[in-house]
Amino acid sequence: MSTDPQLITVLGATGSIGVSTLDVISRHPDRYKVFALTADRRWQLLATQCLVHQPRYAVLKDYAAALELEAELRRQGCPTEVLQGDEALELVAAHDQVDTVMAAIVGAAGLLPTLAAVKAGKKILLANKEVLVMAGGLFTRAVAEHGATLLPIDSEHNAIFQCLPSHRENYLQDGLQTCGVRKILLTASGGPFRNTPIVDLRKVTPEQACAHPNWSMGQKISVDSATMLNKGLELIEACWLFNTRPHNVQVVVHPQSVIHSMVEYVDGSVLAQLGNPDMRTPIAHALAWPDRIESGVATLDLIAIARLDFSAPDYTRFPCLRLAQEAAEISGTAPAILNAANEVAVAAFLQRRIRFDQIAVVIEQVLSRLDSCEPEDLAHVQSADADARAMANQLIASW
Ligand code: NDP
Repeated sequence: MSTDPQLITVLGATGSIGVSTLDVISRHPDRYKVFALTADRRWQLLATQCLVHQPRYAVLKDYAAALELEAELRRQGCPTEVLQGDEALELVAAHDQVDTVMAAIVGAAGLLPTLAAVKAGKKILLANKEVLVMAGGLFTRAVAEHGATLLPIDSEHNAIFQCLPSHRENYLQDGLQTCGVRKILLTASGGPFRNTPIVDLRKVTPEQACAHPNWSMGQKISVDSATMLNKGLELIEACWLFNTRPHNVQVVVHPQSVIHSMVEYVDGSVLAQLGNPDMRTPIAHALAWPDRIESGVATLDLIAIARLDFSAPDYTRFPCLRLAQEAAEISGTAPAILNAANEVAVAAFLQRRIRFDQIAVVIEQVLSRLDSCEPEDLAHVQSADADARAMANQLIASW
């Protein structure tokens, strides 16, 4: 008996995760159909994606780009309806025809559309980790309240999810430690500057920072990986996704990026998930969960890889990781402050307004000047985010 394909909205369709998602979807036309595609302003790529996938809606945040897209699709005879702006992003994330939402907008901009999908009780494939970093408590409570399903796309969290007991209600209710888990081993490649002399980090260019040795990703996450702030964001993300505390998550540097993360149980067993570094594996896993589907990822050739290395992170080289761990321990609005200061600092670095090593300085100074408190609602988180952005911008402008 054939069933109708699931309808999918891809938030951030033109990004690295969005493109990989569409690749997996296009391998399974019997199972999945694109309902809506969204982007910020890259209308040409979105137009190409619309011609291939024929979604009902295409949304651009940028008004001028939406006009260009509209004109192009009419010229090509594509029936996709073009919408524009923040409300339209929320509309296609929460639309009652949608089954699954891929949340792959980068940064804080993804918070409201992803939350709209949660409140509509959707199955959410979460790549946009900043959402959990900013508002993890409010977000996970909303997931439970609205009966949404949250599945991790970050390769590390998807790996942990695969290694954890399948009855996740147990750890979501009572905490990971009640399920016989001793700790999570969160692996990190160490990025492109793992062995660069520390004195040379001040000379790093955006091009060098974006050239990750193992993964092909968007610019922001590439810089986050180079500073290892990304691993700190992932540690916070892991605490919310798996209901545990920061001291139960150990960061392990593993340069080959073959083991995507591990879970250690109290009996001494350590379960790991391995695979080639290709985001189509976690995307296919989460799309089909609990089934398995083909993703297009090549077989892992362990004999060619031959060795797997592990070491402790170097906090002198990567102060951003320490700052994120501290923010995770403080909790409250501290992670939202950390995230906002980082987004401003990374944008300034990509525009060559600050040096690579100054990203950590911006975050440290903003964190030390703003107090953290327990957020009561979303407005509280948004105000902490806005204060941190204003302070980071002020600081950078004063240099
Ligand atoms: P990209 O920068 O490649 O893509 C970001 C997407 O979001 C683009 O479609 C972009 O549109 C859109 N976008 C950017 N700003 C806005 C905005 N203000 N409003 C609406 N849409 C916006 O990012 P990635 O795909 O690399 O990453 C996406 C998320 O997934 C991030 O949170 C990242 O941390 C996470 N992630 C990524 C991984 C990867 O391998 N890339 C791995 C694990 C997690 P436009 O093209 O028009 O700019």
